[in-house]
Amino acid sequence: MLQQVDDQGSGSDDQSRASFREDLQEFLGREAPLHQLDDLTKVNPVTLETVLRCLQARYMVDTFYTNAGCTLVALNPFKPVRQLYTPELMREYHTAPQPQRLKPHIFTLAEQTYRNVKSLIEPVNQSIVVSGESGAGKTWTSRCLMKFYAVVAAAPTSWESPRIAERIEQRILNSNPVMEAFGNACTLRNNNSSRFGKFIQLQLNRAQQMTGAEVQTYLLEKTRVACQASSERNFHIFYQICKGASEDERLQWHLPKGATFSWLPNPERTLEEDCFEVTREAMLHLGIDTLTQNNIFKVLAGLLHLGNVHFADSEDEAQPCQLMHDAKCSLRTSASLLRLREDMLLETVQIRTIRAGRQQQVFQKPCSRAECDTRRDCLAKVVYARLFDWLVSVINSSICADPDSWTAFIGLLDVYGFESFPDNSLEQLCINYANEKLQQHFVVHYLRAQQEEYTLEGLEWSFVNYQDNQTCLDLIEGSPISVCSLLNEECRLNRPSSAAQLQTRIESALATSPCLGHNKLSQEPSFIVVHYAGPVRYLTAGLVEKNKDPVPPELIELLQQSQDPLLTVLFPPQPKEKTQEEPSGQSRAPALTVVSKFKASLEQLLLVLHSTTPHYIRCIKPNSQGQPQTFLQEEVLSQLEACGLVETIHISAAGFPIRVSHQNFVERYSLLRRLRSHTPSGRHSLCAARGRAGQLLCPEEATLQTVLQDLLHALPALTRRAVTP
Ligand code: ATP
Ligand code: MG
Repeated sequence: MLQQVDDQGSGSDDQSRASFREDLQEFLGREAPLHQLDDLTKVNPVTLETVLRCLQARYMVDTFYTNAGCTLVALNPFKPVRQLYTPELMREYHTAPQPQRLKPHIFTLAEQTYRNVKSLIEPVNQSIVVSGESGAGKTWTSRCLMKFYAVVAAAPTSWESPRIAERIEQRILNSNPVMEAFGNACTLRNNNSSRFGKFIQLQLNRAQQMTGAEVQTYLLEKTRVACQASSERNFHIFYQICKGASEDERLQWHLPKGATFSWLPNPERTLEEDCFEVTREAMLHLGIDTLTQNNIFKVLAGLLHLGNVHFADSEDEAQPCQLMHDAKCSLRTSASLLRLREDMLLETVQIRTIRAGRQQQVFQKPCSRAECDTRRDCLAKVVYARLFDWLVSVINSSICADPDSWTAFIGLLDVYGFESFPDNSLEQLCINYANEKLQQHFVVHYLRAQQEEYTLEGLEWSFVNYQDNQTCLDLIEGSPISVCSLLNEECRLNRPSSAAQLQTRIESALATSPCLGHNKLSQEPSFIVVHYAGPVRYLTAGLVEKNKDPVPPELIELLQQSQDPLLTVLFPPQPKEKTQEEPSGQSRAPALTVVSKFKASLEQLLLVLHSTTPHYIRCIKPNSQGQPQTFLQEEVLSQLEACGLVETIHISAAGFPIRVSHQNFVERYSLLRRLRSHTPSGRHSLCAARGRAGQLLCPEEATLQTVLQDLLHALPALTRRAVTP
């Protein structure tokens, strides 16, 4: 039940009226300069333009963090700002009685999250979702958050430990350089771009000390091993071994100085990330000994040599393609580094095995040059992907705490942001699908949290309409028919179908979806999905094949025969591999497609997120050149749209972001009680309703300002009336 602010004032009181006037004028005169607005809910009115201007004003005075209601906006400074991340500052935020009173910072959010674990709020588990486009600063931010917890949640005993490597916090931090060496690459948009999604759970014991962590990764861009867009590079680790190997290692790994590799474009660029020593040191601290490390690097060198194995077109279709002139040496080196038989390696790449009919008769068919290339690339991709997964599991076994030793976790999600290029494919579909899911989680969770609080306070409330992206999710993943189900169906049927046919199938089956855009202008077969962040055109060419991600069984069988200790672990001979290629004319249980696997891992992630109290950081890239002090409005605008920031602010503002205790409000604005009935907009003060739990909530500061403005205008007349007997 709502309880109105009591308006039974005692008689006139000049002194209190004078102080009220001062108070009011101070409040209204507080037209803070834009750069001083710590929270975007305070810009008036909240539009894309005003939000943009506020962020720009703050950026230009080196203020990189701004609250946006329930989220934090982080602008990338593109320059080292050391004083922003010192351990002293971490401790300042950690020890502050009210960290939210300090300047907006990722440490405020980190500290609040940390305190939530301790409080009795359910659920105790917390998560921080860091999003933004490539190069916006997600990984940087996640690293800073991890460092924050490594400082504030360090077990006191661990600091007495004589060896730094023994500290669990340090081991957890060491997982970063290793995962970045193997999973990050220099792209057009970011020199250190993460080519996988990552969720790390920092495990805390009852005393709120970090006892361990567990990493989960998503959708590594394994195609990069064998194919890099022009001006981009392969994963950092390949450059690290080529640049950082000792003379001895160069001999062992057949990496003479100046050697060139097809899969190693742009080696001349020197990046900070090329530091081999840092990776090796971190691996060592994670328990990956030098012997195992050497084995890993040897296998990677083997892949680099495999990339130099090129084929010539065969004149006779019945004959396998021949190796190009200088490829023989590369083949031999690759086979020796991977400990495979050279002839078997060549044959497996050159000749396709087909099993057909009920009897599983085996036919062999020489591959075309293009097919040989695909099989060679496939071999490298499957080795690299398994190596990456294996590394993640080794890291986990080194940092993951015993289940009895922790009671709560803080999860950090560093996930690829919404992507829209002129041409988009399955990778973007998966990434944007993940972003739709996270956006839905954000909206649903936030609204639900508000709803629960207002119910507790006994308030009547109604929300503004927010954009519900369920229809878009239905289009992508819904049942029985959606883009995902149609792609999976194509994979299952394994029928030859052109890009144009796929477009027609998608458009006719999903024609009724409001989120399927009209694709009138496009020359190439494609379809458009209207995402919450904007429409994206997906080319249909190659979608089905990418979704199948076929690995010919004979490639796996070949790798199972390797004598290399690492490959033996990555490709154990038993149980027999389930591979994705279906022999023609045979009905086997369909293999899991890329979208099915991705959907399953996403659902798992969301299940975990739902079990936590989430917090959100939206990273924004002020310009795409990586320049400090440069704020390009157009570029920022599209990111603000993509993360639905204005909507978020509206949702925050539509609730009751101003929470003043009833006592404080009455102390400060007690005169309202007497003046309310005389004001033209007296009804506004009804908005200031007192909840059962004793909190006083106001719809938004702007409304409060309106009430007070009305009062100020009415004040002279009221004063006259008040003094007139
Ligand atoms: P991707 O999606 O490609 O992985 P990302 O969002 O993870 O991109 P980061 O790698 O975190 O982007 O950041 C890109 C670069 O921006 C960093 O390498 C760093 O140079 C700079 N940067 C990001 N945040 C900060 C910061 N807070 N202070 C200084 N530099 C930063
Ligand atoms: Mg990253």
